[in-house]
Amino acid sequence: MPEKYVYSFNEGDGKNKHLLGGKGANLCEMTQIGLNVPPGFVITTATCLTYLADAKRTLPEGLMDDVKQYMQGIEKATGKLFGDPNNPLLVSVRSGSAMSMPGMMDTILNLGLNSQTLPGLIKQTQNERFGYDAYRRFIQLFGKVALGVADEHFDAHFEAIKKRAGVKVDVELTAAHLKEISELFLQVVKEQTGKPFPESVYEQLEIAIKAVFNSWMGKRAIDYRREFNITPAMANGTAVNIVAMVFGNMGNDCATGVGFTRNPGTGVNEMYGEYLVNAQGEDVVAGIRTPKPVQEMEKEMPELYRQLVELRNKLEGHYHEVQDYEYTIEKGRLYCLQTRNGKMNAAAMVRTSVDMVNEGLISKEQALLRVNPDQLEQLLHPRLDPNHVALVLAQGLPASPGAACGKCVFDADRAELLGRAGEKVILVREETKPEDIHGFFASQGILTSRGGKTSHAAVVARGMGKACVAGAEGITVDTRARQAIVAEHVIHEGDIITIDGSTGNVFIGEIPTIPPTFSEELKILLGWADAVAQLQVMANADTPAAARRAIEYGAMGIGLCRTERMFNDVDRLPIVVDMILANSPEERQAALDKLLPIQRGDFKEVFKVMSPRPVTVRLLDPPLHEFLPTELQLTEELNNLRQLQGTVKGVSTLLSTIRSSGQQPKDLPAPAAPFDERGEEIVSEVIAKKERMLRKVRELYEINPMLGHRGVRLGITYPEIYAMQIRGVLEAAAECIKENVEVNPEIMIPQVTTAQELVRVKTSVDTIKAEVEKKYGVQLHFKFGTMIEVVRACMRSAHLAEVAEFFSFGTNDLTQATFSFSREDAENKFLPLYNETGILQDNPFEVLDVKGVGQLMSMTVEWGRKKRSGLKVGICGEQGGHPGSIRFCHHIDLDYVSCSAPRVPVARLAAAQAKLLEDKYTID
Ligand code: ADP
Ligand code: MG
Ligand code: MG
Repeated sequence: MPEKYVYSFNEGDGKNKHLLGGKGANLCEMTQIGLNVPPGFVITTATCLTYLADAKRTLPEGLMDDVKQYMQGIEKATGKLFGDPNNPLLVSVRSGSAMSMPGMMDTILNLGLNSQTLPGLIKQTQNERFGYDAYRRFIQLFGKVALGVADEHFDAHFEAIKKRAGVKVDVELTAAHLKEISELFLQVVKEQTGKPFPESVYEQLEIAIKAVFNSWMGKRAIDYRREFNITPAMANGTAVNIVAMVFGNMGNDCATGVGFTRNPGTGVNEMYGEYLVNAQGEDVVAGIRTPKPVQEMEKEMPELYRQLVELRNKLEGHYHEVQDYEYTIEKGRLYCLQTRNGKMNAAAMVRTSVDMVNEGLISKEQALLRVNPDQLEQLLHPRLDPNHVALVLAQGLPASPGAACGKCVFDADRAELLGRAGEKVILVREETKPEDIHGFFASQGILTSRGGKTSHAAVVARGMGKACVAGAEGITVDTRARQAIVAEHVIHEGDIITIDGSTGNVFIGEIPTIPPTFSEELKILLGWADAVAQLQVMANADTPAAARRAIEYGAMGIGLCRTERMFNDVDRLPIVVDMILANSPEERQAALDKLLPIQRGDFKEVFKVMSPRPVTVRLLDPPLHEFLPTELQLTEELNNLRQLQGTVKGVSTLLSTIRSSGQQPKDLPAPAAPFDERGEEIVSEVIAKKERMLRKVRELYEINPMLGHRGVRLGITYPEIYAMQIRGVLEAAAECIKENVEVNPEIMIPQVTTAQELVRVKTSVDTIKAEVEKKYGVQLHFKFGTMIEVVRACMRSAHLAEVAEFFSFGTNDLTQATFSFSREDAENKFLPLYNETGILQDNPFEVLDVKGVGQLMSMTVEWGRKKRSGLKVGICGEQGGHPGSIRFCHHIDLDYVSCSAPRVPVARLAAAQAKLLEDKYTID
């Protein structure tokens, strides 16, 4: 049982978001630092949990008494009375949990109106139109949120009256229209619920409080929490905020707006936001009318604009963080109704981090901790090729940057259906609502024809890092007909369009994209990260092109260069196949002699690109049969060839019959002559080779290739293969040295289980080193080390460290070995269920299993370094690019992580955060 249910904005602790929710805590904080917030109070999240835990769903005892007492506080502060026919107080009842979940839960405005208080409100404000406007809004919102009456019942009447009145937007409706609408709405409620609309204001309040609590367990909110991995511990129920109403809809000296203290799409330090004159609350976000950019307020309401700038500066000055705020202007007075940390895309996060350090608002450490490393991958998204010539079909607002292309769909359910089926789709709507959220997850991008940069579509898309063009007013969306019309064009469902969320342009068809470039701010931020981090970040790269990209992304070396990738090139594979098919060591050597210059050339190029950074070359790892076609493929090919052989035989028999009869085969085309002579022979040769391959494939067949004849085991059984590769590495290094290029190669052996394997390969390395040094007349310096990817290697790490100068954890194989799961089978068959039911928290092939695999790693490092102090240790599995796994790698004191090039920026930031947060690290 919570001790205190309710806190006024004057008493609540602004730091306690867990108890008061984010909105409530910030309302308290803003009130207490003297910003102009309407009076109000917060019912705690703990109260919500108590309420939800009660099967009967009754409010905790005494809560409504406290609420009444705090309502008196608001009455005193405003000089109005709740339910009073002459001077009525109206309030909003607003949800707000500890984690921001924009638009996921419900809010009711203008609560306290009934047949008694409405005339009072009208008399007091001398504004009948306003009174009925507030009333009809209240009936609809309360009806929907608290009584479960669907919007469409209300909307139908509203649209009908708009049509009859011949107006387009709500502000054109007269008091009489709105009065009629209110009456119709009251009827709707009665018809739909079987009960009249509640007249008692405290009954209204009680129902509203329950409705907000219940919205915590609504489908929308639950879906959202699941998608964003918000656990119950992080977001612990919702608070209820009860706030005295201020009115942006009292006339043309009133307005409502939302803003960001900086541009959330680019991070530029400028006024950013939108407002609507004579409007209330959600009108801006819901896209009822397309709002005006805040810059226009400077001309329209200069004094209020000045106040707004002041509010923005105070907010940032206090929170030291970009704020996303809501305000209302009532009769020339500005009220702040909400603030929270702004959700921005990656580019804006990076830019504002660097700017705020330069402005002295935050420290470098804070800047580094502020950006979510995973978010950086967004910056590596493609952009539209600036040279494309496609014509712009329509233009809207650039609401969330990035380019996206896909098939048009006109509702969220279809988007989900097609998206699940693997189609790329763009969700096209007039405007989006929170109930469309599942369609966002499934889409590449969002296009709306109404609403601004702070509309629901824009905010949600930015949060997800998806492209969004909002308010493309030239497009008429017809959801029923599943089509959209732009001038004379009709876009049907399934037609491909491209949207550019950075410019707001919409195109028909697919536009080519180009890879992104690193911004100056990102370079600066990652430079700070490198200075803080202890872990080095390497890239996995196998080709010179990949190496170049790795450097561009800031890799400090190559942690894994897989030599077999070099074998797979079209002009190399035939030589590799010859090597495999060789019947004798001499034949094999002949093939290897052809491969040597190729490998040497590859290594040299990579070394040059990376110079002077280290490059770890892993010798051949996969089983040889991976370079050959499969048995099935070969049998099919042989069948075809044998058929062809039959045909060729037939043709040549026919030809020789014709010839022997003395006739000229005139009607046969010229090339038939050589065909006639060599045809049969050629086909037979090909068949013989394929048969040899098939025999080899059968010979090499393994029950369990992952655990079979691969890695160092190949190096032991075919020493000449490893010898060629070692020579390739060392000769490439020698040639670089001769050209004055500094190189730091490392030779790494895969699949090692015992030190004896390493000793054998090391002997070969030493011999070749001596030969190469002599041949080139240079001194070679390089490291010799081993992968650790077999459980036995972990247990024998002390012994391995006697030979190996470095370890590199191959956590893909080590995870398979530790779990005894084969990755493919696990991911296809049972792992999803394990994750869903919580048997396993994560997919251990993506997120390092720190408790199991990590435990092995930690022992391995300790034992290895005991034998060889300063032993260099890193990780080159896929998990090396995952921020959580990187924190663990820092924790066990690894020297480096190596990951794919696009993860390098992510890993650099994560490595810095791992250092900054090292004291807080725990393995639970
Ligand atoms: P959400 O969490 O969806 O943003 P809010 O609780 O912030 O919902 O409220 C929805 C809209 O109503 C916002 O635009 C907000 O500014 C406005 N609003 C909320 N309370 C008041 C109030 N007391 N007076 C005027 N407008 C309000
Ligand atoms: Mg809000
Ligand atoms: Mg491996």
